[in-house]
Amino acid sequence: MSDNSKQLEVLMKIIEQSPLRFICPKCLKGFPRGDKLNEHFRDSKDEIHQGLFINNHNSRQFHEFYQQALDLEIPFQDFQRKNRAQVFELAFILEHIRKKEPNSYRE
Ligand SMILES: [Zn+2]
Repeated sequence: MSDNSKQLEVLMKIIEQSPLRFICPKCLKGFPRGDKLNEHFRDSKDEIHQGLFINNHNSRQFHEFYQQALDLEIPFQDFQRKNRAQVFELAFILEHIRKKEPNSYRE
């Protein structure tokens, strides 16, 4: 294992145990509660934050804004299995970033 992947693994563990459970997919800012994240969406006036604030998480529009925010392709079905809060959970976001990593290994 290279130093980089060791660092990454440790960093992932730290992040996963962080009290910041919800993440804004646009700025990757963490929030301890869903209502604080929603306030952040509401108070940020750009199109992506507003799109994530206004749209239903099961809508195509929301899906589009979310993918733009993270610059990642995420299967639409992955949203349909979740409730609104769950798609902003750190674990959900990390899971999809991990999948993107071309050289990621599976434990
Ligand atoms: Zn944000």
